[in-house]
Amino acid sequence: MRVEPRPWVKGLTPYQPGSHRAAPEGMLASNESPYGPSPRVRDAVADAVRDLHRYPDPSAARLRAALARRHGVDPEQVLIGNGSDELIYLLAWAFAAGGGTVLCADPAYALDVLSAVVAGADVRRVPLVRWRHDLEAMARVEADLAYLVNPHNPTGTVSDGASVERFVATARARVVVVDEAYIDFAQVPSAMPLAAAGKALVLRTFSKVFGLAGARVGYLVGDPEVLDVLRSIRAPFSVGALAQAAAVAALADTEHYEAARRRTIVNRARLTDLLRERGYAPVASQANFVLVPDVAEGALVERLARDGIAVRPGSVLGVPGSVRISVPDDVGLARLAAALPPAS
Ligand SMILES: *Cc1c(COP(=O)(O)O)cnc(C)c1O
Repeated sequence: MRVEPRPWVKGLTPYQPGSHRAAPEGMLASNESPYGPSPRVRDAVADAVRDLHRYPDPSAARLRAALARRHGVDPEQVLIGNGSDELIYLLAWAFAAGGGTVLCADPAYALDVLSAVVAGADVRRVPLVRWRHDLEAMARVEADLAYLVNPHNPTGTVSDGASVERFVATARARVVVVDEAYIDFAQVPSAMPLAAAGKALVLRTFSKVFGLAGARVGYLVGDPEVLDVLRSIRAPFSVGALAQAAAVAALADTEHYEAARRRTIVNRARLTDLLRERGYAPVASQANFVLVPDVAEGALVERLARDGIAVRPGSVLGVPGSVRISVPDDVGLARLAAALPPAS
């Protein structure tokens, strides 16, 4: 068989996931919740197993209704995906495929770029300024689709409410997506009111604070007409019944959500203090991870791996010479404190 991929697909490197070779409390490479999913998820998934011979509800009506209540929007303004990642691919296909343009920061969230390239779109990147989105420069760029990740990955920095509003109001890009995967850990307002008003799309995930990264559930909130376009091209059963049940149960457990959120914020400060005490200069983060620039990346990753700790090497995130460390629980923080060498 002679295979000849399309030119823009040729030679692409697959997404490089975080290492799984670590102790459970040392899994600090993928920004997962160290607190796991709500205990209610187990029963909900066990119940859903009984109906596994049935196709899942392609509209995810129960989950959409619960999310609509949570955000004060209409269920028609919510679209569920197989993780945010599916929705990011759908956005690229629907709005930028075949020569369109996607605008994002540099460095960007890897999937925003990969999905654009796969769809045959051009990527326009605007460098961060002092680790933050340069929203004034981004607003001036003509594009079919624009991403603002708030808080940003891999830096953990935020754009404040007024700047986000101004960006959405003035952007030349036709579709603006505000990716709020980490908003639960931040002190800035959500762009959800802009999504409710149909001015932007807000992207959320169950993979972070809800502790359901393995279930693969994300969602978009925004203009129903825009969501209908995405609905028309998606694989109808991309979100399985177990994942839908897990997300509904997770959403109902506000106590678990609040505890995970609060503990992450507390330990983020402790992680930042620890890094500073050892002579590092971490970027001030409002997410569930901390970027540590100006390190001997390979040596530090290896040193921590020897003690069962996996962190993300910055070179795969577009910030060579850095590591990104997910905020651990108390046990993980103690393990990290024991293993972390002083900055050289
Ligand atoms: C983790 C993350 C997501 C979530 O992706 P899922 O596919 O829902 O797991 C989305 N956007 C950003 C920027 C992230 O870091």
